[in-house]
Amino acid sequence: MEKGRLCSPGKKISYNIISVNCAAMFTIKDHLEIRNNHLVIGGADTTVLAEQFGTPLYVTNESRVISNFSAYRTAFPDAHIYYAAKANGSFAILRMLARQGAGADVFSFGELYMALLAGIPPQKILFNGNSKTDFELQKAVEIGIKVSVDSLDELHTLSKIADSLGKIVEIAFRVNPDVSPKTHPKISTGLKTSKFGIPSGEVVDAYKEADKLGGITPGGIHCHIGSQILDTAPFTEATQKMMDLVEKITGIGINLKFVDMGSGLGIPYEKGIKVPTPREHAKAILPVFEERTRALGISPKLILEPGRFIVGDTTILLTRVNTVKKAAKNFVGVDAGFNLLVRPAMYDSYHHVVVANNVKSQGEDTYTIVGPICETGDIFAKDRTLPQIEKNDILALLDAGAYGFSMSSQYNGRPRCAEVLVKDGEADIIRSREDFEVLLNGQKLPARLM
Ligand SMILES: *Cc1c(COP(=O)(O)O)cnc(C)c1O
Repeated sequence: MEKGRLCSPGKKISYNIISVNCAAMFTIKDHLEIRNNHLVIGGADTTVLAEQFGTPLYVTNESRVISNFSAYRTAFPDAHIYYAAKANGSFAILRMLARQGAGADVFSFGELYMALLAGIPPQKILFNGNSKTDFELQKAVEIGIKVSVDSLDELHTLSKIADSLGKIVEIAFRVNPDVSPKTHPKISTGLKTSKFGIPSGEVVDAYKEADKLGGITPGGIHCHIGSQILDTAPFTEATQKMMDLVEKITGIGINLKFVDMGSGLGIPYEKGIKVPTPREHAKAILPVFEERTRALGISPKLILEPGRFIVGDTTILLTRVNTVKKAAKNFVGVDAGFNLLVRPAMYDSYHHVVVANNVKSQGEDTYTIVGPICETGDIFAKDRTLPQIEKNDILALLDAGAYGFSMSSQYNGRPRCAEVLVKDGEADIIRSREDFEVLLNGQKLPARLM
C-alpha cells in the first residue's frame, strides 16, 4: 500500500516535481488549503493550532462534516441516513449530525447513550451488534429503538425481555449476504465466514420464527458488507441478494418497512486514487432497490449507515517531531503513536503526511514516520518522500476522522490528546487533553498494598 515517492499510484512523476505535485494533491477547497506554506484547515493555520492547543491534536473541520453529510443525503434523497457512531463518537460531531437530521447506527449501550444525549431521536436509531448483553437488549426495548438481531439465540432472548416488559420491539435480521467487498480482511463483514449476521439461506426461516414470537415485530432487514469499499459492484451484488430475500419474506406475508444496506463507502486515503462518490454508491443500489420494490408492490424505507465517508476526511492529527534519526532508514519520531491512531498498525492503512509548517519545499528526503510507543509496529508512514524534516516540525496525518480518536487508548501510559473543532478559522476545544491523573482513574489498592 505504501507508495513511497509515488503520490499518484499508477502515474510516475519525475523526481524534481514530486514535492510540488504531492503538496497540491491533497488540498480540498474550503477545507484543506495551503497558506504561507502552512497547512490550513477550515480557515485555521495548523501551526497556530499546534501552538495554541499543544500536540498531539485532533482537528476537525465542522463545515466538512456538514458537506459530507449533505452529499450523502443528496445522493439518497429518499433514504434515511443513520450515521455509524463508532466511526467518530465525539459528542460535538454527534450533535452536529443530530441537527442535520441524521439517525444513528449504534453498536453498544455507550454509543446509544451518547446518540440520545446528542439529540438523535429513538425512532432513528438502530442497535447493531453480534454479541449484545441482556442489559443492552433491555435498554433497547425500554427506549423503543429498532434492533438488528444477529442470531436466533438473540431473537429468543429479546422476545423474552420484550414480553416481560410488556413491549413490542421492531427488529431487522442482520443478514450475512456472502459478498466480497474487496477490502482489507479485518474490515470485510459480509463474507460467509464473518462473525456478523445470519447466513442468507437461514434468513427466511428466521423471519418465520420471529413472526411467531411474542414481543417481536419483524420490521426490516439489514446488511453491511464491509468498510473502505472502493468498487461499487459489491454494493449492487449485496442489494440484489437482499432484494431476493425481501421477495421471499414478502412472500410469507411479512411486510418489511425498511431495508438497511449499511454502508462502507471508501475514501481516497491515497491521494489521486479514484473512489466512488455517494452518487455512484446510490447508482449501484437505487435502481435495483427501486425496481424490485416496485415489482413487489411494497414501499419499504431505505436506510444507509455511512460512517467513514461522513467523518474520515474532516479531521487531521497534528503531531510534533521529537527527533530525527538516520539509521537503516530516516526515522522521524513524533509525539503521537498508535494509541491515538491505530489504523496504520492495525490495517496497514495509508495516511497521507503533510509537513504542516513547510508544505512545499525545494529539498526533500525519504522518511519513515514513527510514534513513541514501545512496539515495532508503531509506524504511521513508511518511506515517504517529504520536505526536509527537523525537530519541532509539525506533521499532519490526513483523513484521521474515522476510526481515529474513537479507537484510541492510553497504552504505554499515554493520556489521550485533545480534539478541536474549527469553523471559519475559529477553533473550539471539543475534548480536553487528558492529564496524567486519568491513568489512576478507577484504580484502587487493596489494603495490604497501602
Ligand atoms: C461500521 C459499520 C458501519 C459504517 O461503516 P463505514 O465503513 O464507516 O461506512 C455501518 N453499519 C454497520 C453495521 C457497521 O458495523
